[in-house]
Amino acid sequence: MTGQAQNPHHVVIVGAGFGGLETTYRLAGAPVRITLIDRRNHHLFQPLPYQVATASLATSEIAWPIRSLVRNRPEVTTLFASVKGIDAAGRRVLLEDDTDVAYDTLVLATGARHAYFGHDEWEPFAPGLKTLEDATTLRRRILVAFERAERERDPARRAAWMTFVIIGAGPTGVELAGTIAELARSTLPPDFRSIDTHEARVVLIEAGPRVLGGFPEDLSAYTLTSLERIGVEVVLGQAVTECTADSVVYGGKRLDTRTLIWAAGVRASRAAEWLGAPADRAGRLQVAPDLTVPGHPESFAIGDT
Ligand SMILES: Cc1cc2nc3c(=O)[nH]c(=O)nc-3n(C[C@H](O)[C@H](O)[C@H](O)COP(=O)(O)OP(=O)(O)OC[C@H]3O[C@@H](n4cnc5c(N)ncnc54)[C@H](O)[C@@H]3O)c2cc1C
Repeated sequence: MTGQAQNPHHVVIVGAGFGGLETTYRLAGAPVRITLIDRRNHHLFQPLPYQVATASLATSEIAWPIRSLVRNRPEVTTLFASVKGIDAAGRRVLLEDDTDVAYDTLVLATGARHAYFGHDEWEPFAPGLKTLEDATTLRRRILVAFERAERERDPARRAAWMTFVIIGAGPTGVELAGTIAELARSTLPPDFRSIDTHEARVVLIEAGPRVLGGFPEDLSAYTLTSLERIGVEVVLGQAVTECTADSVVYGGKRLDTRTLIWAAGVRASRAAEWLGAPADRAGRLQVAPDLTVPGHPESFAIGDT
């Protein structure tokens, strides 16, 4: 008999990130069949896209096909699909292709997305770093910026190609700024003839009073010193007010740059809207201590959701 026929109780897990995959692993041996839905065909190790963006790791080192991760679990079905809503009364997950999947138990593990604080028009100029595609796009932009600088004769335009601005000094912004500085100062110098890549400016702009605002103050201070030691220019207490294709404005000043990276904010996925359930200011579903969604005892929300 197949796992499906043996186990009539159907658990649908939306999202095969950290939370969804761990739930699938922990349910091994339980009398259930599982459908694991993700809009990507791969699981991404979310803390490391910045290493791909800065050419330190290959994509295959931080992402794995979801199917192969559950290959030995016949009761698990993988569905490559994007969820657009939930019919809670009918206990059905609604997919973008207008089909649906019935569930007995629902686990929402859809994570977070970028938040541009009402300025979605900045996204093309200041892309974020959430997906594997984001990481390869950013890697191309960073490496091409050095190539363009190498061939640029005009000093001002060359300086703009050699200026890398990261908006937001949380973990992603700090790690990106540090790695781009190391790339410019340690990895690239012997490869270029016209430019000295040591002269690249890496500017990290943070609206709050310190880097790593969510961490203890002594760690923020240590991180600030470490960043400055490797040549990162850290700007604190200045909110960005404009992003364009060739500049950023903060604290009333315009800085010419061809590479802007957004690391300033994330917002939870739309799961709270799907269920019509209460969320906090970051859009995260509010859950009971057992992670069920109030009013929906058959639905759980986990991770960044
Ligand atoms: C630079 C960095 C460093 C970090 N370091 C740490 C650390 O050291 N320790 C730690 O605990 N955490 C760390 N984190 C945080 C951690 O990565 C996240 O908290 C974690 O990935 C959240 O897991 P999740 O399952 O909620 O979401 P995710 O892992 O983001 O997975 C969400 C999944 O849902 C899918 N999905 C989303 N919407 C839909 C939809 N509509 N339809 C279908 N599928 C959908 C996505 O494709 C994705 O696969 C770090 C994060 C970053 C960015």
